[in-house]
Amino acid sequence: MVQTISAVALPQEQPQDWHAMEIAQAIACLETDLDKGLSSAQVEQRLADFGANELTGKKSKPWWLKFLLQFNQPLLIILLCAGLVKAITGSFVNAGVIWGVTTTNAMIGFIQESKAEGAIAALAQAITTETTVIRDGQKLRIPSRDLVPGDIVLLASGDKVPADLRLVQARNLQVDESALTGESVAVEKNTQSLKAETPLAERKNMAYAGGFVTFGQAIGVVVATGNETETGRISQLMEQHTNLSTPLSRKFDKFSQSWLRVVLGLASLTFVVGLSHRNLQDALEAAVALTVSAIPEGLPAVVTVTLAIGVSRMAQRHAIIRKLPAVETLGSATVICSDKTGTLTENQMTVQAIYAGGHQYTVTGIGYEPQGEILQDDKPVDLNSDKGLQECLFAGLLCNDSHMENKNGKWVVVGDPTEGALIISANKAGFSQSNLARQMPRLDAIPFESDYQYMATLHETSRGKSIYVKGSAEAILKRCTLMLNTDGQPRPIDCVETLRQTTIEREVNIMARQGLRVLALAKKSVSNEQMTVDHPDIETGLIFLGLQGMIDPPRASAIKAVQACQEAGIQVKMITGDHAVTAQAIARRMGIHKNGSILAFTGAELAKMDRQELAQVAEEGVVFARVAPEQKLRLVEALQSKGEIVAMTGDGVNDAPALKQADIGIAMGGAGTEVAKEASDMLLTNDNFASIEAAVEEGRAVYKNLLKAMCFILPVNGGESMTVLLSTLLARDLPILSLQILWLNVINSITMTVPLAFEPKPQNVMKQPPRSPNEPLLSGSRIKRILAISLFNWIVIFGVFEYIRQTTGNVDLARTMAINSLIAGRIFYLLSISQLIPNLIAKMDGTIQENVDIPAIGLGIVGAIALQIVFAHVPLINHVFETAPLTLQQWLFCLAVGSPMIVWAAIVNKIDPPN
Ligand code: ADP
Ligand code: MG
Repeated sequence: MVQTISAVALPQEQPQDWHAMEIAQAIACLETDLDKGLSSAQVEQRLADFGANELTGKKSKPWWLKFLLQFNQPLLIILLCAGLVKAITGSFVNAGVIWGVTTTNAMIGFIQESKAEGAIAALAQAITTETTVIRDGQKLRIPSRDLVPGDIVLLASGDKVPADLRLVQARNLQVDESALTGESVAVEKNTQSLKAETPLAERKNMAYAGGFVTFGQAIGVVVATGNETETGRISQLMEQHTNLSTPLSRKFDKFSQSWLRVVLGLASLTFVVGLSHRNLQDALEAAVALTVSAIPEGLPAVVTVTLAIGVSRMAQRHAIIRKLPAVETLGSATVICSDKTGTLTENQMTVQAIYAGGHQYTVTGIGYEPQGEILQDDKPVDLNSDKGLQECLFAGLLCNDSHMENKNGKWVVVGDPTEGALIISANKAGFSQSNLARQMPRLDAIPFESDYQYMATLHETSRGKSIYVKGSAEAILKRCTLMLNTDGQPRPIDCVETLRQTTIEREVNIMARQGLRVLALAKKSVSNEQMTVDHPDIETGLIFLGLQGMIDPPRASAIKAVQACQEAGIQVKMITGDHAVTAQAIARRMGIHKNGSILAFTGAELAKMDRQELAQVAEEGVVFARVAPEQKLRLVEALQSKGEIVAMTGDGVNDAPALKQADIGIAMGGAGTEVAKEASDMLLTNDNFASIEAAVEEGRAVYKNLLKAMCFILPVNGGESMTVLLSTLLARDLPILSLQILWLNVINSITMTVPLAFEPKPQNVMKQPPRSPNEPLLSGSRIKRILAISLFNWIVIFGVFEYIRQTTGNVDLARTMAINSLIAGRIFYLLSISQLIPNLIAKMDGTIQENVDIPAIGLGIVGAIALQIVFAHVPLINHVFETAPLTLQQWLFCLAVGSPMIVWAAIVNKIDPPN
């Protein structure tokens, strides 16, 4: 066989009909080995020849088009027109500045948008997809981007198909290829060769990149990677797109559409009135001034910055936002439905109790350390005479897909923690997984799936072939008629106390009430001809071997987070595949309750309910146990029908519909399948419930900061508009010119408002009930606040201008001082709504330890003052903006005029608390 292959020999040059080939032919053609996979040398060579397995795709829209699209906002278009009016009347400097501001605005929007897109894309890339391959005869997990043609890939349910594969082995494989074929039902796959002309959607022996394995397992050989895959060919036609619109930004857009009409109306009025007592030039200036004053030019930039900061703060706290609207929605979440295992608990399983051969045993030891003993009545057991216990431990070792590895002196599970616990309990009795695997080699297996709640393996033993099964007590017990006694002899399962409860069921309950996760183990002898194991083989006739109960301690941080959520008026519900009694015990330990009680319902009970009943139960219940993934979807819908805003976690393949339906779908970065991640709005990098709580807290803070920013920016527009309107109606000189208004709205507003977004969270964000999702952007009391501050601003501008003009006769000076006074008032207002002073006081009291973000607001204020000095004292600026220098007394006068804001703001804050 040739050691290296040339690129020319491979399918890229002449697309091959892989689906029409026999498996052996495809393998030969790709110069690979079905059992051993490629060698490292081959991989290296092919990576060099074919490049990484990633879509380079077409770049999104060109930058200049994105930039031009920024102008496609009604308010910016009016500004452009206002500039045009100025240009026509010969005020080119004015026109230039207005256009300059508009362009700057578009530029800020453009930069912010690209940054936000970049950040989201970077976050998405940080989550690399991994895939399992066979190389050099070994099973490895590698990043999907390192795949090359010829690689042998193992697929399991929940995986994303990483490249185009010709299937060489398939077991009940179903793949959802809707992204490629538009066919929404998952397709059943096999390995038989097909006719060359079979269309893509019907090539059942192929799995195409981008598809999702929804069921079963398979092995396939990579036939194409990166842009050469079928998806690659299509995606080069599609443009990559990150959606940046959120409910809030859509509300903004709608608002600015209607605001547009108001502005145009007022501008026309000003023009007509202005024309009646002045010349055309002045009337136009008044109309333009009104237009620019009524538009909050700096607001869009502030909104984007605030959202972007929210996203990055959440990322620091292990919550990665995949879809921007989630940032806002998080703030209004009313219910969090969380998985138990791994999210609320540590997912560190240790067997503590065993029931086998009719006896109870306890197991000592902590975590995955193999030190510990199996005790019966506090005395070590003699395993040689206790065949029942021995078989129970064997089953746990054999029917197992995981293994233990020693990493830096610590034992860690590679695979499922539940299975790790079973390995360790057997180790404590002196049985080793590798020895047993040699004595009883595995021939076939049905891997664990949540829907079935069991797993089975077929083994060759010295006494013929046996199937070992493990799973939830319910799933196993109904298949058993016999149980082993201590001597290893089968006897019938007997009933005690009541007719409905067997001894075993009583034992299950004893373990579950202590919060233990219970695994039942069983076996069945089969004929020597049997080579595979399938679901029907274990329908009946199993022999019960025992129970192993394992503890999975609650995460300490999750307990705190649950409490924080409940204080914040957010209900916490536990949704789990585990036993109801176990789940309830854990819920009690974690303090999850509703009005003091912990009602639990099982999936079987939910299945019998109609919509109305379900909605009722979904509200009242706290624990939902033995829930099948499709019931999660029904639960989300039921809660939503009650008006709840639902956050729902999920990790499995079948969780995707529920994640999509939930208002905030949350996937686990660690334990989650690719399918779940793709369907989610948010990812937790540490799989911890506490991160959900953190994200909610940040989400609430983002919303508050946005509202604060609006309440800070809009009163300046209000004051300016009132000034222009009233002065025109009263036929007086304009106290503030259009360019000066732009200076205020853009330069000053951005300098002073952006720091608000960097503010620490108000202390009480998690002490208030969730915000209603229907709440309008500006409530009645917020509008009153804006009007009250606007009024103050108007008095300052109008009063200072008239007074200074009358006393000095210098119009430019009067305008400059009016603006400086306004900004002095603005600084006092900013301090009154910011966290800075309360936090400084709290810090001095020692009530809070955290670092107070002094620099942000402080820098904003210093920056604003510096800019005003430039505004008044730089000759070029004096010329363009028609301003004049101030004396020190005049500066102090401005400060004095602004200072009553301290009292005014205090009154307003009393009526409408800023936090
Ligand atoms: P959860 O993760 O919410 O606890 P799962 O769906 O993973 O729920 O598990 C449901 C039940 O299936 C468990 O209570 C346990 O009895 C059983 N089970 C869990 N993992 C395995 C496994 N690897 N093999 C066999 N049975 C399992
Ligand atoms: Mg699980």
